[in-house]
Amino acid sequence: MTRQKRVVELLAKLPGVGEKTAQRYLLFLLTGDEAIARNLGAELSVLRDFLKPCDRCGNIGEIEADHRGPVVCAICADNKRDASILCVVARVTDLLAIERAGSMRGRYFVLGRLLSPLEGVGPDELPLPQLSARIREDGVREVIVATPPSVDGEATALLLKRELAVLGVAVSRIASGVPHGGDLEFADPITMARALSGRQKL
Ligand SMILES: [Zn+2]
Repeated sequence: MTRQKRVVELLAKLPGVGEKTAQRYLLFLLTGDEAIARNLGAELSVLRDFLKPCDRCGNIGEIEADHRGPVVCAICADNKRDASILCVVARVTDLLAIERAGSMRGRYFVLGRLLSPLEGVGPDELPLPQLSARIREDGVREVIVATPPSVDGEATALLLKRELAVLGVAVSRIASGVPHGGDLEFADPITMARALSGRQKL
């Protein structure tokens, strides 16, 4: 395979990027500012060494080259965050969307997946023991369930309500405003902020 083909093929593996877009990216990297291609290449080549999932919440954590021990992301390390509020999301992209809205004072927990009876994902495949441990260790008083407004998202919210009942925490669900079946990732910051402030007890 030629180098050109190889680069296009790799770029086309990125989500939302087809072959045409991959070719446009390649051309841009070749003809645009040379520093962009070189810096991007340098960052990508060590990306997996320095960015790892946070051991506490699943968000992206930055580590040093000689890092040992647990990975802690900037949000978990931030003492100004309210540890009594924990926002549960399905994916890191949802966490980032809520952060962009800027009204979340608490911390997060990323499930990594949603309950999906149709796709054979049962409760045992969700990190519920880790979530419960986190709630107990941090003295969480309110869990805000910010799973997407889809069938799986709703099913997951109800599961969480049931599972967390024994812990004595208040469980709330973000309000609608995010369209049903929609992606939190694409909600604008104002809609997201409203969905958070209008959350309702589950
Ligand atoms: Zn974290």
